[in-house]
Amino acid sequence: MINIVIFGPPGAGKGTQSEKILEKYSLVHISTGDLFRANIKGETELGLKAKSFMDKGELVPDSVTIDMLRAKVNENPHANGFIFDGFPRTTPQAQALDALLDSLNTSISVCLSLQVPDEELVVRLINRGKTSGRADDADEGVIRNRLAVYMRETAPLKDFYKQQNKLEEIHGVGTIDEIFGRLCTAIDKHA
Ligand code: ADP
Repeated sequence: MINIVIFGPPGAGKGTQSEKILEKYSLVHISTGDLFRANIKGETELGLKAKSFMDKGELVPDSVTIDMLRAKVNENPHANGFIFDGFPRTTPQAQALDALLDSLNTSISVCLSLQVPDEELVVRLINRGKTSGRADDADEGVIRNRLAVYMRETAPLKDFYKQQNKLEEIHGVGTIDEIFGRLCTAIDKHA
């Protein structure tokens, strides 16, 4: 199995690159942001819980997020591997993911960290907001809060994966195909 964490600030291109990676390596894509948005659209109880946090650019509480992730992994017992997009975002989430994969006799192969300067991220997210209909992309204050939450809660996870010799830092500016090429080189080192 190849299990990939794709990591980086909001707007770094995780979703775009995940689509290309899952096709090449035949992986199941699990995006916690997409799962929350589907639940909000379906007006589920989980969606209602998540919405108030997401609209402010805050993280959804770990317990809710971890349970949702675990259920999704367990729905795919025959997967070739997974690409985790937007998860983990906190240390308890990373620990829960390791424990879950361990119980399935597998583990994370590599953590791909996309690096993009803040000002480029703000421009990308404001542009995405014009077409995505995402409430959290429509307001520069919410965008800046998401970047601050990323710096505070999520960026420290780089050390978690570095200590396991699984961190690959990738320059996230360039064409989609250039960045994809850099990511594939990094994956192939760990596959
Ligand atoms: P982006 O990376 O552009 O911020 P996502 O679609 O990954 O977009 O996430 C959107 C929002 O969903 C986050 O700002 C957060 O509120 C919530 N969310 C997604 N994944 C997680 C997670 N692993 N833990 C907590 N909240 C999450």
